[in-house]
Order: sequence, then C-alpha cells, then structure tokens
Amino acid sequence: MTDSALIELVERSNRIGEDPSLVVYGGGNTSAKETFVDHLGRAQQVMWVKGSGADMRGSVASDYPGLRLAELIALRDRGEMSDEEMTDLVTRALLDPASRRPSIETLLHAFLPFRHIDHVHADAICALTNHAEGRTVTLAALGEGFAYVDWLRPGFELSKVVGELSEYEGVVLAHHGLVTWAEESDACYQRTIDVVERAREFVAANRIAPGPPPRHEDIPEDELRRLLLNLRGAIGQTGHRVLRVDSRLRQVADHPQVEEIVAGGVSSADHMLRIKPRSVVVGSAASARVDVDEYRDEYLAYVERCADRMPEGYSVHDPMPRVALVPGVGAITSGGTLRDAEIAADIAAHTHEVARTVLESFGSPEPLSEADTFDFDYWPMELYKLTLKPPPAEFSGRIVIVTGAASGIGRGISLELAARGASVVLADLDASGLDEVGDQIVRAGGAEPLTMAGDQSDSAVVDATVHRTIRHFGGLDGVVLNAGVGVTGTLTELTDEQWQTAMNVNLTSAFALTRASMQVMQEQGLGGALVYVASKNAFGPGAGFGAYSVSKAGMVQLMRIAALEGGKHGIRSNAVNPDAVFDNSKLWDGGLREERAAAHGIAPEELEDFYASRNILGRRVATADVAQSVAFLLSDRSSRTTGSVLAVDGGVAGAFPR
Ligand SMILES: [Zn+2]
Repeated sequence: MTDSALIELVERSNRIGEDPSLVVYGGGNTSAKETFVDHLGRAQQVMWVKGSGADMRGSVASDYPGLRLAELIALRDRGEMSDEEMTDLVTRALLDPASRRPSIETLLHAFLPFRHIDHVHADAICALTNHAEGRTVTLAALGEGFAYVDWLRPGFELSKVVGELSEYEGVVLAHHGLVTWAEESDACYQRTIDVVERAREFVAANRIAPGPPPRHEDIPEDELRRLLLNLRGAIGQTGHRVLRVDSRLRQVADHPQVEEIVAGGVSSADHMLRIKPRSVVVGSAASARVDVDEYRDEYLAYVERCADRMPEGYSVHDPMPRVALVPGVGAITSGGTLRDAEIAADIAAHTHEVARTVLESFGSPEPLSEADTFDFDYWPMELYKLTLKPPPAEFSGRIVIVTGAASGIGRGISLELAARGASVVLADLDASGLDEVGDQIVRAGGAEPLTMAGDQSDSAVVDATVHRTIRHFGGLDGVVLNAGVGVTGTLTELTDEQWQTAMNVNLTSAFALTRASMQVMQEQGLGGALVYVASKNAFGPGAGFGAYSVSKAGMVQLMRIAALEGGKHGIRSNAVNPDAVFDNSKLWDGGLREERAAAHGIAPEELEDFYASRNILGRRVATADVAQSVAFLLSDRSSRTTGSVLAVDGGVAGAFPR
C-alpha cells in the first residue's frame, strides 16, 4: 500500500496555505489522484481532496478525504444536479464514511484528468477579473493558454464547465480564483506560483500611479475611544462583539475613493462568509451610529429585494457590518473574540487591497451582481462551514474588567468569566500574579486577556485601565470591583494611616472605577453590569475589624447609588457578600489569619472550619462559589436585578441582606 500522493498533497497544501495572497482561512482546495489498495486489497483509482472548510495552512492527512474516482467520474453524464444531491452522491464515494465532508468543488477536481490540481483564491488573479474588462485583461496578462470562466457558483455545473477545459494550462474563475494542474506535485505548485506571479507583474505594470499618500491625519486617542464606543454601541444592537483596530488598511481607508473600493465588494466570493458582502465606511465618532444604521438598513433592503431566493429554512443574517474602514485609523473589525476580529481584518486586508489595486490599474472594481451575491451570502453549502464551529459561549463578545485579579476571589472570577467566553481585563498591583492568571486562562482555551498592573486606588491608574480596555477590546460591558485589603484593629488602636488604607483600597478605588466605567458605558449605550465584591461584614460587622467593615458597608451603599443613577442607562449594579473564602486568597496573609483566630479564641489553622461551623449550611465557602454568583449577576440571566446583594456566605443569620 502506498500513499505517497497523499503525503505530497498535504505537503504542497501546507506550502500554499502559508501564503495568504493565495488562500486565507479555509479558502481554495487541492487534490491528488493515485492507485490505492483499499482495506479489502482492491487496487483502485482514488482521489484525495481537501475537506470542506479545512484550512490548508497546517492541514494534515485527515483533512483530505479519499474518494473512489470511478464513482465520481460516473456522475459526469448527469444533466443537472442540486448541491444537496451532489453532496449526497459524492459522500457515497468516500473510502472511509467517517471522513470529513469533501470540498464542494470535489467534482471539479475529479472531472479534470490530472494527477495533481491546485485551486487558489489568489489576490492577483481576482485583481485581473473583478472589473468590467476582466476577460480582456486576463487574456492580455496570461495569454491564450488560460481559459476564462465568468462567475458561476461552485457546484455541479461549474465542475462540468471546468472539466471540459483540460486542453488549457489552467482556468481563471472570475471573482473567485485559479485552477492549475500538473502530473507532479512540485510542478503543480510551481505552476500556481508562476501564474500568480505573472498576474501580479501585469497588474503592477498597469498601475496608473502608486496609491496617493494618506489624506487623513491620525485620529487623536480620545476621539478614537469615542469612535470605538459609538461604533460598538451601534453594532452591538444585535449582539455583543469586541472591536479591534488594524492599521494595515490605513491606505485603503484614507483613499479618496474609499467608497468606490468598498462598493467593489469582496475579492473572492468566499470572503463574504466572514466579512459579509460589504464593509462600512465610518467617518467619525459623531457619525458612527448613523453610518452603521444606514449600512444595516441597506443590508436588510437587499435581503428584502432577494427574498424569493432565500433557501428554505434560512432567515436574514445579522445585518451589522464586520469591517469598518475609518479614515485616519484603518480598519475596525468585530468578532466574538479579538482572534475572530483579527481573522476578519486579515481577510479584509486582502479583499480591499485587491479592490484598490483594480481601481488603480483597471478602473472601478465591480462586485458580483446582487442576485449572485445573495446566492452566495445565503448558500447552505458555504454556511455549512459555520456549523463546524462551536456555538458562541455565554459571554462571547463581552468585555469585563476584574480588579484584584491576581489572586484569590478575583483570580477565580477571572478564570470563570474567561471560561464562559468573556474578554477579560485583569487589574492588580501584582504584575507577575497577573501574568500567571493570564497564562492560566490561555492554557484553558480562553481569549487572551489584557493585563493592567498598577495601584487601582489611584484614580489616574483607574482611568488608564478603562481607556486601555476600550482601545484594546473596543468597549466595556461589565466590571467586577473586587480589589480589597483586610485591615484589623479596634477603633482605639487603628491609626489614621490604617483607616485611610482600608478606605482607599476598598472604597475610594471602587468609586473611581464606578465613575470611569459608568461614563464609558453611557457613551457606548449598551447598558452594563457592575458587581461589587463586598463582604458578609457589610451587614454583620466584626469587633476589631472596623476599618474593613465600614469600607465594605460603604461599598454596598455605593452599589445602591450606582443602581439608582445607572438604571435609566440600562446599567445594573449589584453586590455579592462572601464570607471566609480562603483558597488562594492573599487577604489572610500578613497576620489577618492569626488576628481573626485570636479574636475567636482558636488556633490559626482552625479558622476555616470555625467559619464553616458558624454558617447555617455548615459548609466552607470557596472562590468558585463566589465566581458563580458574580457570573450570574454579570449575565443577562439577571437582567431584572439591580441594587441587590447576593450573600455567598453559607448563610449567616446576623448578616442577612436588608
Ligand atoms: Zn474556490
């Protein structure tokens, strides 16, 4: 048994996948044919082809299902075939029924009689085709050896058309890409590279002028923050997303004809799966909401016009843009995580650069017709790729700041929120502790957090934390005010300094963060949730623990005022009152454990069990218990709850909320 063609195919596909000017994120496909001896010892012609949605970059052999070639070629005599029927019949030819679904372009590869075939969505090829003179320009660039096929959505018909073109050296597919072939794998790769290079040189030679110099000054930082908040507020009407600023598209965004570039649509049709058929141009913070509303209305009107083409069982997609081009900035893209937003920016960088190249070499870029755009935008075969992704997590697209995040309760809350899909900002004095929590989140598969080391009782640090949050993630949805310090001493013993420390760290810092957060949440206009980690001591104070208890009681009152003032903006404010949480907490270091043990007349190591025995349920309270309650209060599941206190203390009658 030999599988050398498959090994060559994977190796070649990896090389192609490494070059984003050829394919991005699952675009394109490759194949190889060979004689293969199956599990029953039968030698037969087999074709290996890339699986639907598989990314060539880093792909492995299992991404290339094998099919019995004779059973594919036999389908060629059919007249018409729906996508569903074709998918069903292609699936029957699989060597291994448990393989991943083969590419929708499988039959295109099968009907061409070549051992190795590449199909890429190269930028340079799309630059040749995406305008009124595409056919003429392609002929001039590549010569008569290359066939030109007007846009046709991938499927049985396109496969038959391309299957008839084997006397050519390759095929250019308008608004789509390139098909090339060879008998050897290396030669096939080289052919792809050579043809794309010829296209690139032709485009460059025809370029009327290098792009004009940037027309716009940099947007000032405070204006950019306001723009992000307003943009996020506008697109967040249909669901929360993080925003990411990308300067790669600065030249396109600053281009005097940016609207014409955007009107050119996507360069290769499959880009619309991730960045929609169009991007939006946003002028300023002041116009962001109007610009997005107009985009949404236009999108809905286009869907309405094409309503009779909507496939059964499908309905309108989220009408909000994924990519905004902003003069003076570049692109601002959106997604459930920064990584998703980065993928959108990567694709947009290719799509809009192609349109700019077309504009500067051949005149106005032209998109697919509206009907063809809709048929791709709502194509079940393409939308299938989205079903391969896990469903969005509970806090996908939500941005939450957690203070005191480096240890104890704050750490536990941060891990919990990240596990639920939140983009978290970790704030603490302890920089190395923050890095540890950040690593832990990433190792567990969470979105990379932003860390802010600094003293959160300094209002300048608080403002910087909120500003960086907006610049990094695009906005703010939740704040967990958790940073705290335990200060012991009777009222006759406490120094001014000790008292001030408790007030500054536990209360004044919470005020500063409340102020800064509510300001940006109001500008953003998506509501928000503040969760104050107070204490059982707020309602059930302890002798010898006055400074702490007073500061935590003040925090509960601060929470109530925030609820009163935030309500009309949809900003909810609630508190949790934990008691005696020890795991991983630094609160008990520095003598607090010993002092509280002495106050209760027990040994320090007996403190956990002492507190557990004191509560109604007789159970220890852990960080995870507090984190669950905080997550609930941040989530839409508590959307009708504000101004309340949730006790997480095992039940302490003397501290019942009131
Ligand atoms: Zn394709």
